[in-house]
Amino acid sequence: MRRPIVAGNWKMHGTRADNARLIEELLGGHPDRAAAECLVFPPFVYLQEIGRLVRDTPIGLGAQSVCAEAQGAFTGEVSAGMLKDVGCSHVLVGHSERRWIYHEDDQLVARKFAAAQSKSLVPILCVGEHLWDRENGRTEEVVSRQLDAVIDLCGVAALESGIIAYEPMWAIGTGRTATPEQAQAVHAFIRERIGGRDAKIAKATRVLYGGSVKASNAAELFAQPDVDGGLIGGASLNAEEFLAILAACGSR
Ligand code: PEP
Repeated sequence: MRRPIVAGNWKMHGTRADNARLIEELLGGHPDRAAAECLVFPPFVYLQEIGRLVRDTPIGLGAQSVCAEAQGAFTGEVSAGMLKDVGCSHVLVGHSERRWIYHEDDQLVARKFAAAQSKSLVPILCVGEHLWDRENGRTEEVVSRQLDAVIDLCGVAALESGIIAYEPMWAIGTGRTATPEQAQAVHAFIRERIGGRDAKIAKATRVLYGGSVKASNAAELFAQPDVDGGLIGGASLNAEEFLAILAACGSR
Protein backbone atom coordinates (compact mmCIF):
# COMPACT_ATOMS: atom_id res chain seq x y z
CA MET A 1 0.00 0.00 0.00
CA ARG A 2 1.57 3.32 -1.11
CA ARG A 3 0.66 6.11 1.30
CA PRO A 4 -0.10 9.21 -0.78
CA ILE A 5 1.82 12.45 -0.33
CA VAL A 6 0.92 16.08 -0.85
CA ALA A 7 4.04 18.28 -0.99
CA GLY A 8 4.05 22.07 -1.17
CA ASN A 9 6.94 23.70 -3.01
CA TRP A 10 6.93 27.30 -1.78
CA LYS A 11 9.71 28.26 -4.23
CA MET A 12 11.21 31.75 -3.67
CA HIS A 13 8.13 33.44 -2.25
CA GLY A 14 7.22 35.53 0.75
CA THR A 15 8.97 37.16 3.68
CA ARG A 16 10.01 35.43 6.89
CA ALA A 17 6.69 36.55 8.43
CA ASP A 18 4.69 35.29 5.41
CA ASN A 19 6.35 31.87 5.60
CA ALA A 20 5.74 31.61 9.36
CA ARG A 21 2.10 32.67 8.90
CA LEU A 22 1.59 30.08 6.16
CA ILE A 23 2.89 27.23 8.30
CA GLU A 24 0.80 28.38 11.29
CA GLU A 25 -2.30 28.36 9.08
CA LEU A 26 -1.45 24.91 7.76
CA LEU A 27 -0.84 23.55 11.25
CA GLY A 28 -4.10 25.10 12.43
CA GLY A 29 -6.13 23.44 9.67
CA HIS A 30 -4.27 20.15 9.31
CA PRO A 31 -6.51 17.25 10.33
CA ASP A 32 -5.26 15.06 13.19
CA ARG A 33 -5.21 12.00 10.99
CA ALA A 34 -4.73 12.86 7.33
CA ALA A 35 -4.68 9.87 5.00
CA ALA A 36 -1.93 11.54 3.00
CA GLU A 37 1.51 12.57 4.19
CA CYS A 38 1.97 16.35 4.12
CA LEU A 39 5.33 18.01 3.33
CA VAL A 40 6.39 21.62 2.86
CA PHE A 41 9.45 22.96 1.03
CA PRO A 42 10.16 26.54 2.18
CA PRO A 43 13.06 28.69 0.92
CA PHE A 44 16.47 27.69 2.38
CA VAL A 45 16.80 30.63 4.75
CA TYR A 46 13.52 29.88 6.50
CA LEU A 47 14.06 26.13 6.90
CA GLN A 48 15.39 26.27 10.43
CA GLU A 49 12.55 28.43 11.70
CA ILE A 50 9.85 26.42 9.93
CA GLY A 51 11.60 23.27 11.14
CA ARG A 52 11.09 24.39 14.73
CA LEU A 53 7.42 25.08 14.08
CA VAL A 54 6.70 21.69 12.49
CA ARG A 55 8.70 19.58 14.94
CA ASP A 56 6.46 16.87 16.46
CA THR A 57 3.61 17.76 14.08
CA PRO A 58 2.30 15.70 11.15
CA ILE A 59 3.84 18.14 8.64
CA GLY A 60 7.25 17.17 7.30
CA LEU A 61 9.99 19.51 6.10
CA GLY A 62 11.97 19.46 2.89
CA ALA A 63 14.40 21.64 0.94
CA GLN A 64 14.03 22.71 -2.67
CA SER A 65 17.51 21.65 -3.75
CA VAL A 66 20.80 20.32 -2.38
CA CYS A 67 24.47 20.40 -3.31
CA ALA A 68 25.89 17.22 -4.81
CA GLU A 69 29.05 17.68 -2.73
CA ALA A 70 29.29 16.93 0.98
CA GLN A 71 31.28 20.02 2.02
CA GLY A 72 33.97 22.45 0.99
CA ALA A 73 34.54 25.43 -1.26
CA PHE A 74 31.18 25.56 -3.02
CA THR A 75 30.03 29.13 -2.47
CA GLY A 76 26.30 29.54 -2.27
CA GLU A 77 25.53 25.85 -1.95
CA VAL A 78 23.87 23.94 0.88
CA SER A 79 24.83 20.35 1.70
CA ALA A 80 22.62 17.39 2.54
CA GLY A 81 24.20 17.23 6.00
CA MET A 82 23.23 20.86 6.67
CA LEU A 83 19.65 20.20 5.59
CA LYS A 84 19.48 17.22 7.90
CA ASP A 85 20.93 19.34 10.68
CA VAL A 86 18.07 21.87 10.50
CA GLY A 87 15.36 19.22 10.51
CA CYS A 88 14.73 18.35 6.88
CA SER A 89 13.59 14.85 6.03
CA HIS A 90 13.10 15.35 2.27
CA VAL A 91 14.66 17.27 -0.61
CA LEU A 92 13.65 17.99 -4.21
CA VAL A 93 16.22 17.06 -6.84
CA GLY A 94 15.97 17.94 -10.50
CA HIS A 95 13.03 20.32 -10.24
CA SER A 96 12.41 21.61 -13.76
CA GLU A 97 13.36 25.15 -12.74
CA ARG A 98 16.74 23.83 -11.59
CA ARG A 99 17.18 21.83 -14.80
CA TRP A 100 15.98 24.54 -17.15
CA ILE A 101 17.09 27.83 -15.56
CA TYR A 102 20.27 26.59 -13.83
CA HIS A 103 21.23 23.98 -16.41
CA GLU A 104 21.39 21.05 -13.99
CA ASP A 105 21.87 17.99 -16.18
CA ASP A 106 20.77 14.40 -15.54
CA GLN A 107 24.15 13.39 -14.14
CA LEU A 108 24.28 16.24 -11.65
CA VAL A 109 20.70 15.50 -10.57
CA ALA A 110 21.66 11.86 -10.03
CA ARG A 111 24.61 12.95 -7.87
CA LYS A 112 22.29 15.15 -5.84
CA PHE A 113 19.96 12.16 -5.37
CA ALA A 114 22.91 10.14 -4.06
CA ALA A 115 24.09 13.00 -1.81
CA ALA A 116 20.63 13.26 -0.25
CA GLN A 117 20.45 9.54 0.45
CA SER A 118 23.94 9.52 1.93
CA LYS A 119 22.54 11.69 4.75
CA SER A 120 19.27 9.74 5.00
CA LEU A 121 17.21 12.46 3.35
CA VAL A 122 14.42 11.24 1.09
CA PRO A 123 15.03 12.67 -2.39
CA ILE A 124 12.03 13.54 -4.55
CA LEU A 125 13.31 13.13 -8.09
CA CYS A 126 11.46 15.45 -10.47
CA VAL A 127 11.18 14.37 -14.08
CA GLY A 128 9.22 15.76 -16.99
CA GLU A 129 9.30 16.88 -20.57
CA HIS A 130 9.10 20.22 -22.36
CA LEU A 131 6.08 20.96 -24.51
CA TRP A 132 8.16 20.48 -27.65
CA ASP A 133 9.23 17.03 -26.47
CA ARG A 134 5.60 16.05 -25.94
CA GLU A 135 4.53 17.45 -29.28
CA ASN A 136 7.28 15.45 -30.97
CA GLY A 137 6.37 12.21 -29.22
CA ARG A 138 9.48 12.25 -27.03
CA THR A 139 7.91 12.29 -23.54
CA GLU A 140 8.89 8.70 -22.73
CA GLU A 141 12.41 9.15 -24.12
CA VAL A 142 13.02 12.23 -21.92
CA VAL A 143 11.52 10.72 -18.77
CA SER A 144 13.47 7.46 -19.31
CA ARG A 145 16.74 9.37 -19.66
CA GLN A 146 16.11 11.35 -16.46
CA LEU A 147 15.12 8.24 -14.54
CA ASP A 148 17.89 6.01 -15.89
CA ALA A 149 20.58 8.52 -14.88
CA VAL A 150 19.61 7.99 -11.24
CA ILE A 151 19.21 4.23 -11.55
CA ASP A 152 22.57 3.92 -13.31
CA LEU A 153 24.39 5.89 -10.61
CA CYS A 154 22.54 4.76 -7.49
CA GLY A 155 21.04 1.41 -8.47
CA VAL A 156 17.34 0.61 -8.73
CA ALA A 157 17.17 -0.27 -5.01
CA ALA A 158 17.81 3.42 -4.25
CA LEU A 159 14.33 4.21 -5.54
CA GLU A 160 12.87 2.19 -2.70
CA SER A 161 13.69 5.01 -0.29
CA GLY A 162 13.06 7.80 -2.79
CA ILE A 163 10.03 9.36 -4.42
CA ILE A 164 9.44 10.40 -8.02
CA ALA A 165 7.47 13.43 -9.17
CA TYR A 166 6.29 13.60 -12.75
CA GLU A 167 6.08 17.29 -13.61
CA PRO A 168 5.56 18.11 -17.28
CA MET A 169 7.36 21.43 -17.76
CA TRP A 170 4.52 22.83 -19.82
CA ALA A 171 2.18 22.42 -16.85
CA ILE A 172 4.30 24.07 -14.16
CA GLY A 173 3.02 27.47 -13.13
CA THR A 174 1.15 27.81 -16.42
CA GLY A 175 -2.36 26.98 -15.25
CA ARG A 176 -2.31 24.23 -17.88
CA THR A 177 -2.69 20.87 -16.13
CA ALA A 178 -2.09 17.47 -17.69
CA THR A 179 -5.39 15.65 -18.06
CA PRO A 180 -5.81 12.78 -15.61
CA GLU A 181 -5.34 10.40 -18.56
CA GLN A 182 -2.10 12.10 -19.67
CA ALA A 183 -0.74 11.98 -16.12
CA GLN A 184 -1.77 8.35 -15.63
CA ALA A 185 -0.14 7.30 -18.92
CA VAL A 186 3.26 8.74 -17.93
CA HIS A 187 3.00 7.48 -14.34
CA ALA A 188 2.25 3.98 -15.63
CA PHE A 189 5.19 4.29 -18.01
CA ILE A 190 7.51 5.30 -15.13
CA ARG A 191 6.36 2.29 -13.12
CA GLU A 192 6.86 0.05 -16.13
CA ARG A 193 10.35 1.43 -16.71
CA ILE A 194 11.35 0.77 -13.09
CA GLY A 195 9.62 -2.61 -13.35
CA GLY A 196 12.04 -3.52 -16.14
CA ARG A 197 14.72 -3.50 -13.43
CA ASP A 198 12.73 -4.63 -10.38
CA ALA A 199 9.00 -5.35 -10.26
CA LYS A 200 8.71 -5.09 -6.49
CA ILE A 201 10.34 -1.67 -6.34
CA ALA A 202 8.19 -0.48 -9.26
CA LYS A 203 5.06 -1.37 -7.32
CA ALA A 204 6.25 0.23 -4.09
CA THR A 205 7.65 3.52 -5.45
CA ARG A 206 5.47 6.56 -4.98
CA VAL A 207 5.02 8.70 -8.07
CA LEU A 208 3.56 12.17 -7.52
CA TYR A 209 2.08 14.44 -10.16
CA GLY A 210 2.97 18.14 -10.32
CA GLY A 211 1.87 20.91 -12.65
CA SER A 212 -0.90 23.42 -11.88
CA VAL A 213 -2.67 21.16 -9.38
CA LYS A 214 -5.46 23.03 -7.60
CA ALA A 215 -8.25 22.08 -5.23
CA SER A 216 -10.60 22.00 -8.21
CA ASN A 217 -8.64 19.41 -10.24
CA ALA A 218 -6.80 17.46 -7.52
CA ALA A 219 -9.38 14.74 -6.90
CA GLU A 220 -9.56 13.54 -10.51
CA LEU A 221 -5.76 13.49 -10.83
CA PHE A 222 -5.32 11.64 -7.53
CA ALA A 223 -8.00 9.13 -8.51
CA GLN A 224 -5.67 7.69 -11.16
CA PRO A 225 -4.26 4.33 -10.08
CA ASP A 226 -0.59 5.26 -10.54
CA VAL A 227 -0.81 8.80 -9.13
CA ASP A 228 0.26 8.72 -5.48
CA GLY A 229 -0.33 12.37 -4.64
CA GLY A 230 0.99 15.70 -5.80
CA LEU A 231 3.83 18.20 -5.78
CA ILE A 232 2.11 21.55 -5.56
CA GLY A 233 3.64 24.95 -6.39
CA GLY A 234 1.41 28.02 -6.61
CA ALA A 235 -1.57 26.49 -4.84
CA SER A 236 0.57 25.55 -1.83
CA LEU A 237 0.98 29.24 -0.95
CA ASN A 238 -2.64 29.45 0.12
CA ALA A 239 -3.30 27.37 3.23
CA GLU A 240 -6.99 26.83 2.53
CA GLU A 241 -6.32 25.68 -1.03
CA PHE A 242 -3.45 23.42 0.00
CA LEU A 243 -5.48 21.83 2.79
CA ALA A 244 -8.30 21.19 0.31
CA ILE A 245 -5.79 19.43 -1.97
CA LEU A 246 -4.60 17.39 1.01
CA ALA A 247 -8.20 16.39 1.74
CA ALA A 248 -8.75 15.45 -1.92
CA CYS A 249 -5.68 13.22 -1.74
CA GLY A 250 -6.93 11.53 1.40
CA SER A 251 -10.25 10.59 -0.12
CA ARG A 252 -8.84 8.86 -3.20
C1 PEP B 1 6.12 23.00 -8.90
O1 PEP B 1 6.71 24.04 -8.66
O2 PEP B 1 6.68 21.93 -8.67
C2 PEP B 1 4.78 23.07 -9.45
C3 PEP B 1 4.17 21.96 -9.77
O3 PEP B 1 4.23 24.33 -9.59
P1 PEP B 1 2.69 24.68 -9.93
O4 PEP B 1 1.82 23.82 -9.05
O5 PEP B 1 2.54 26.13 -9.64
O6 PEP B 1 2.47 24.36 -11.39
